[in-house]
Amino acid sequence: MNPEEIELKIGWLYPTLMSTYGDRGNVICLEKRATWRGIKVSIIPLDRNTKASEIEEIDLIVGGGAQDRQQSIVMEDLKGIKADTLKAKIEAGMPGVFTCGSPQLLGHYYEPALGNKIEGLGILDFVSKHPGIDARRCIGNLVFEITASPLAEELKTILGEKPIAIGFENHGGRTYLGQVDSLGKVILGYGNNGEDGMEGAFYRNAIATYAHGPLLPKNPFIADWLIQKAIQEKYQLPISLTKLDDLLPKKARQTMLKRLDLLSNVDH
Ligand code: GLN
Repeated sequence: MNPEEIELKIGWLYPTLMSTYGDRGNVICLEKRATWRGIKVSIIPLDRNTKASEIEEIDLIVGGGAQDRQQSIVMEDLKGIKADTLKAKIEAGMPGVFTCGSPQLLGHYYEPALGNKIEGLGILDFVSKHPGIDARRCIGNLVFEITASPLAEELKTILGEKPIAIGFENHGGRTYLGQVDSLGKVILGYGNNGEDGMEGAFYRNAIATYAHGPLLPKNPFIADWLIQKAIQEKYQLPISLTKLDDLLPKKARQTMLKRLDLLSNVDH
């Protein structure tokens, strides 16, 4: 199958409500890295006007971060047949990357700093709790090794070395995992809660992380994994994407790791 015969529909969860922390960069990165390979891409905003049938048609999903208030507005809409359709798509293996506020809504619940508990979709087995408006926010550079299997092995094949992700976190909520794999282990930063050394979660082909940045331009190997997985799931055929010239992101990663005095953590 030629790339020109491939079309990907990328769903973007509530773009006007959940784009507080620049995660639109993940959508742009996916779109560019697919179109640079000749793949046809359409970006589908999934918002309060979206019908469940439109969610059914997407191949890959991106969810960004949001403030507590916006998260509760989202969950007033993401229920019933829309929620069931999204859950079914994730359970069926649709790949996605969910950052901070959006994965908090994929868990069992999120207790915000103020206001009522926000019931989540219960797709990911974890809970998130904000310790209150006087608690320290988890803000800063976040570096972690992706360890979830088989994701880590697949990323190592793409990247050619241990998958270390570099991002930036800014959250008040703390996430506590149940029976779900963590995405990775923290090398620098808070991660899920600043206590257990874990970052994010991984379930089926859904990546949940606290890493803004945006994550994908800083870690393009994860973007390529998402594109590749979406094609495999949609067309049921193995595919390896052509290599792109990633000299710039490679240099940016080296600069960040050097600045954070973490170069020894990355195999060369
Ligand atoms: N409002 C949530 C929190 O403070 C999510 C923040 C975010 O998406 N960066 O934890």
